[in-house]
Amino acid sequence: MLATNYDLVNSRIKEACARAGRDPKEVTLIAVSKTKPLSDVEELIAHGVTEFGENKVQELCDKFEHVSTPVNWHLIGHLQTNKVKYIVDKACLIHSVDSVHLAEEIEKQAAKRNVIANCLIEVNMAEEESKFGISASETEALVRFMSTCSHIKVRGLMTIAPFVANPEENRVHFRKMHELLLDIKSKNIDNIDMSILSMGMTNDYEIAVEEGATHVRVGTAIFGERNYNL
Ligand SMILES: *Cc1c(COP(=O)(O)O)cnc(C)c1O
Repeated sequence: MLATNYDLVNSRIKEACARAGRDPKEVTLIAVSKTKPLSDVEELIAHGVTEFGENKVQELCDKFEHVSTPVNWHLIGHLQTNKVKYIVDKACLIHSVDSVHLAEEIEKQAAKRNVIANCLIEVNMAEEESKFGISASETEALVRFMSTCSHIKVRGLMTIAPFVANPEENRVHFRKMHELLLDIKSKNIDNIDMSILSMGMTNDYEIAVEEGATHVRVGTAIFGERNYNL
């Protein structure tokens, strides 16, 4: 059942790629398993899924430790500085770097463990008060700072679009994200790779793909509704 949902999302991604004249190989579907049991993750692993997303450090670490087969864990949620040490060698990609302070801690902890931390910068493109993320105008400065960190590799940008009734309303934010990515890429900053654009969730991933997403983070459409009151 989860495998069927996953395949359905993937086929919609393929259709969105076709509409946009993109190669579906450019788009990675991350299965967002937050709040869901390890048995759900195992069901998808048996189906060949390797990319999973979690928004909490503790939950990522638990699943990382107990899963039967090693898979790639994406940290997609807000990261507190005091928790960097737990995930710096477990997350394949940290999607949510939004300050120099956080980048400094990632650099410190990655250096300690002698690893390179793959990171995305989270941009609050819609300038929502309630959201984490750096503003579009401050993004290049953070990229430039992180380019000097020898244990960090910036891979691109991430955004969480507003929750809207009509996902078409988010197209403008996705388009601006793509433009920002291309603009920073064109500056050829040392040690910076602008190849990943992480955007699109259950409600708007098809539009995100049409606008250039390389990674979509989908939870509900694969695993069903989350129950936070368990
Ligand atoms: C929960 C979450 C998702 C997935 O949301 P759905 O609407 O269930 O697809 C994607 N990205 C982030 C950062 C999340 O926290």
